[in-house]
Amino acid sequence: MIDAKGYAAPGAKKALGPFALQRREVGENDVLIDIQYCGICHSDIHQARDEWGGSIFPMVPGHEIVGKVEKIGAAVKGFQPGDAVGVGCFVDSCRDCDPCREGIEQYCEGGTVLTYNGMEKDGKTPTYGGYSTKIVVDQNYVLRIPKNILLDSAAPLLCAGITLYSPLKHWKAAKGQKVGIMGLGGLGHMGVRIASAMGCEVTVFSSSDRKRDDAMKLGAANYVTGLSDSDQKKLAGTLDLIINTIAAPIDLGAYLNLLKRDRTMVLVGVPEKPSALSAFPLILRRRRLAGSLIGGIAETQEMLDFCGEHGFGSMVEVIPMEKVNEAYDNVVAGKVRYRYVIDLQSIK
Ligand code: NAP
Ligand code: ZN
Ligand code: ZN
Repeated sequence: MIDAKGYAAPGAKKALGPFALQRREVGENDVLIDIQYCGICHSDIHQARDEWGGSIFPMVPGHEIVGKVEKIGAAVKGFQPGDAVGVGCFVDSCRDCDPCREGIEQYCEGGTVLTYNGMEKDGKTPTYGGYSTKIVVDQNYVLRIPKNILLDSAAPLLCAGITLYSPLKHWKAAKGQKVGIMGLGGLGHMGVRIASAMGCEVTVFSSSDRKRDDAMKLGAANYVTGLSDSDQKKLAGTLDLIINTIAAPIDLGAYLNLLKRDRTMVLVGVPEKPSALSAFPLILRRRRLAGSLIGGIAETQEMLDFCGEHGFGSMVEVIPMEKVNEAYDNVVAGKVRYRYVIDLQSIK
């Protein structure tokens, strides 16, 4: 076994602290990654605090992982020691069901092996995530990081980036379309960058005016605070697609009314409590409400290459591991601009 250092949550109401863990030996298809950075996704907080139920403790969170290849197994092709690589929200899947065959492994019917807060295929070994110095992952679930993106700002692409890229592609966001992004947090700010790079006219819906300048720098064309009655009237029936990243229950109907006929709002945020929904905003213009989960491996690589071509990663605040608990509180309080990224050198 390979020794690694990490940080774990011992229980739902407890602070994260130092934790020694072991990774499996490098098998013939495995890649040993020396982790450099790991993003803090709001999902890490939901799970470490057991807000969705069913959390497994002790938990080493982290699914926005970037690092350098340290060692490869005998059958590994396409990765060499020293390469910059990434790992996202899952590290394996059944490889046999229709979604796996179609390359949408995130919807695997046999069950994806989550990067953390899950079980290995043996059903009894808990998985540990990226708040750690090393990880061993099968080559089919390892991504390549484009050379022109700094590693720290690449980390959030592995979850926040793909979670916005996938629905934008699936619902065919394209040049000239009007796209709404609800919530300018870790996910939302990537949505603005990616949708504007796709040529869309992006409107940001935020709960305060504080992020207006940043939204414009990220590529937004419009910024709406609080969605007042007059904004609701002005924008009714104008948008082609809305991606909702908000991690709190809100009045979905007010935003659905902003869509044109037959258009879709995609939920990606997962609030602890459900939002109420009236049927009228959907019925009156045959609008749709949908959901989307991260993205498959091939699509994640496509997204990384897209970001490389456009020369952007995330806007990040790099922190040492010991600041993780403070960082969690700041994310919940909406103070991060726009993703905390842990520098794993700080515990090596
Ligand atoms: P985040 O950085 O905390 O951003 C969420 C944003 O939502 C905040 O910045 C804020 O934007 C807005 N918001 C929060 N509370 C609000 C409230 N009470 N009313 C109105 N707006 C509010 O979180 P994140 O990392 O982007 O994650 C967002 C959600 O997506 C989480 O629930 C996470 O678990 C989920 N997620 C889903 C997937 C997926 O595959 N579907 C993947 C990753 C994460 P403003 O400051 O602009 O108002
Ligand atoms: Zn995430
Ligand atoms: Zn499968």
